[in-house]
Amino acid sequence: MKTSHTVSHTTHVCTDLAELCKWLELPETVLRDGQKAADELPLFVPLSFLRRMERGNPKDPLLLQILPQNVELQSIAEFTTDPVGEGSRAPNEILRKYPGRALILTTSECGVNCRFCFRRHFLPPNTDLSLDPIREAKDVHEVILSGGDPLCLTNQELMNLLYELSLIPHIRRIRIHSRLPIVDPERVDGKLINILGTFLPLYLVLHVNHQNELDEEVLKRIESLIDIGVPVMSQTVLLRGVNDDLETLQRLFEKLVDSRILPYYLHQLDRVAGSAHFEVLPEIGRHLVAELHSRMPGYAVPRYVREVAGESCKVPFC
Ligand SMILES: *Cc1c(COP(=O)(O)O)cnc(C)c1O
Ligand code: SF4
Repeated sequence: MKTSHTVSHTTHVCTDLAELCKWLELPETVLRDGQKAADELPLFVPLSFLRRMERGNPKDPLLLQILPQNVELQSIAEFTTDPVGEGSRAPNEILRKYPGRALILTTSECGVNCRFCFRRHFLPPNTDLSLDPIREAKDVHEVILSGGDPLCLTNQELMNLLYELSLIPHIRRIRIHSRLPIVDPERVDGKLINILGTFLPLYLVLHVNHQNELDEEVLKRIESLIDIGVPVMSQTVLLRGVNDDLETLQRLFEKLVDSRILPYYLHQLDRVAGSAHFEVLPEIGRHLVAELHSRMPGYAVPRYVREVAGESCKVPFC
């Protein structure tokens, strides 16, 4: 099985900070303040995602997630390149951390470069992926495709992988974690929908952080996946300046359940070097989630969790 690290599934991306600033009518200072950080982790954002940002607003919640800022370069002791203690990860690795489940890092590619992500410290790719460890592990019933973003694989690669997994008798479910349908909804076309619909039961967990990410186009495409029988859930990272207030979170989760998407996890930020300015204190997170519970049905409120090195599951916060 081969995964590709060079295929670019999308040609409609912005990688130039000056261009981004011009397009969004942002002041010179934004450009100047981002250049060094962009050298370290390049700007990379689909135009489709860019169009959902507000012009002239340097604090736009979608912009903040992808905008290089020099504050990232400050070194802060607790923020490291390996915050969840897995050793730095490499694509094509298979992680077995939790009972019954195995996670495959399918690729190092993503449809966007999020500034808060552990992926910025990814190792270079391993050799070709072998599924033998999963074939041998008879106690594994669910395979999680993660990355990077597994939907950055080509259709052919994805189909081969899903097919090979479906041949393993003890694998009963496949789960895909992806942000691509949000940042680049064109990826979810008829062909992809067919492929995913062939390998049921298959769950999709969407990574979505703000309601402005969910425009009509995005929701229409995700709903067509749900229509063919793919259960869709969401995960959100709690991010300072992006979604760390009650109304913003409530609007996001309401919008998700209105479209039949179930909020699954709200993640405490992993303490990745360069992401400190996004951190929300756990006390505040807990308070927000408690308030959400008093305002919304239980199924609309995700579990607030964090990754802890060495623990046998995601640790709930409340
Ligand atoms: C998060 C994660 C999973 C999935 O955990 P769930 O609680 O089932 O969503 C599985 N394996 C690894 C290594 C993970 O980090
Ligand atoms: S893995 Fe998720 S959070 Fe990280 S860059 Fe890719 S899409 Fe963004």
